[in-house]
Amino acid sequence: MIRDRRVPGPFSSQVGLSYMMNWIDHFHFTAILFSRSRILTKALRAFPLPAASASLLALKHEPPRPKNFMAPLTNGTIPRSTKMHSKVVIIGSGPAGHTAAVYLARANLNPVLFEGFMANGFAPGGQLTTTTDVENYPGFPTGIMGPELMEKFREQSIRFGTQVITETVSKIDLSARPFRYWREGQEGDEPETADSVIIATGASAKRLGLKGEDMYWQSGISACAVCDGAVPIFRNKPLAVIGGGDSAAEEATYLTKYGSHVYVLVRRSELRASKIMAKRLMNNPKIVSLAHSFEWIPNIHPPPQTILWNTVATECQGDGDLLNNLRIKNVLTQEEKDLPVNGPFYAIGHEPATAIVRSQLQTDEDGYIVTVPGTTQTSVKAVFAAGDVQDKRYRQAITSAGSGCMAALEVERLLAEEEEGTDCELANFFFFLFSLM
Ligand SMILES: Cc1cc2nc3c(=O)[nH]c(=O)nc-3n(C[C@H](O)[C@H](O)[C@H](O)COP(=O)(O)OP(=O)(O)OC[C@H]3O[C@@H](n4cnc5c(N)ncnc54)[C@H](O)[C@@H]3O)c2cc1C
Repeated sequence: MIRDRRVPGPFSSQVGLSYMMNWIDHFHFTAILFSRSRILTKALRAFPLPAASASLLALKHEPPRPKNFMAPLTNGTIPRSTKMHSKVVIIGSGPAGHTAAVYLARANLNPVLFEGFMANGFAPGGQLTTTTDVENYPGFPTGIMGPELMEKFREQSIRFGTQVITETVSKIDLSARPFRYWREGQEGDEPETADSVIIATGASAKRLGLKGEDMYWQSGISACAVCDGAVPIFRNKPLAVIGGGDSAAEEATYLTKYGSHVYVLVRRSELRASKIMAKRLMNNPKIVSLAHSFEWIPNIHPPPQTILWNTVATECQGDGDLLNNLRIKNVLTQEEKDLPVNGPFYAIGHEPATAIVRSQLQTDEDGYIVTVPGTTQTSVKAVFAAGDVQDKRYRQAITSAGSGCMAALEVERLLAEEEEGTDCELANFFFFLFSLM
């Protein structure tokens, strides 16, 4: 099949060229014939070939996967939806989703963003719609109200051409490309499809379900020391952190900058926090641990931070406007007391909104989507995750926006590479035909 161009005799530029053509012929013929073959793909991965062959098979730039990372599920030849097919769909409307949308829209990829209809308990715009002043988002030196900031994000997405849909995505199939998804209430209908997906569904703070909790949520109760610690209602006021893990240790230490006293309510007689975090908390000169005792309250001039072991909160109380007291109980003695604080900070974990993808993407023990370190690439190729849904550490608007930007750039690069790959295959085919002449 392959024409033999080898010419015996002394080496000349023509002979050299002919050798080269011959090699290229062999290479391209094989690649063209088998570039879509899974067996050859595996073989090519096993035996190193020139960089060109890798690019031909679009293996280039695929981020390295951590050990034990789930293999891509994508295998497919699913037809595009006749209802709506897009190059990229973004699920979620917090800072991560909208930042991704701005970048993708400006790159002419016509993103579709599902902002949800009270999805995961949040209005479109996400967690920041539930707060008042945001003082740490760069660009707003005098602060900005959370809902107003998210309205600006939305306006900016739309300005560049993002299609924002006020519906919730209730089901998604990531087993083959294009990916198929369904809107809430339309699960029985033909799905819509997308070549790539950005999951930016966020997370929500776990609650205790205490009496009075709903009334004083965000009116004294907070789940983010970094976000709220500095606000006037907490400054120089007695505060309490509820929890015994790493977050609790970190939040309590952070709050000592602001509160007049910081109590830590630990359900057990030891901290669950990692050794290093526990040590940091216990070695804090401002901490005195009053084990198994209630004698610290109320007016014995407690030190700035006090760990209350075996203690849980039972009720949030206040003046109807702001919280000013916690009822607490010692779980060993069942003794109940008042703890006059203005700010209980919940540090009992967050719930990432991963229900629709949990069985399809690799998640960690707490349900957060696992991404390849330094990227937003999930365990399925062409599915990216940004924002709090993949970040249990920082959980800030700015870090969410940053990862939304990363996801957009990664989508853009992947789609461009795939397009280039197709072009490259076509070009190779014509080159091959030409070389037969
Ligand atoms: C009360 C409060 C105050 C805060 N204050 C600050 C602060 O001052 N500074 C700061 O930096 N950070 C603050 N944060 C943290 C910050 O809000 C989050 O880190 C950030 O909003 C996370 O953004 P995200 O894009 O990951 O998603 P989120 O903001 O969580 O938004 C996700 C959105 O996606 C939607 N959604 C979920 N599932 C679906 C679905 N299936 N289909 C369609 N839509 C879906 C949700 O309805 C939600 O609107 C605060 C958080 C809270 C709760």
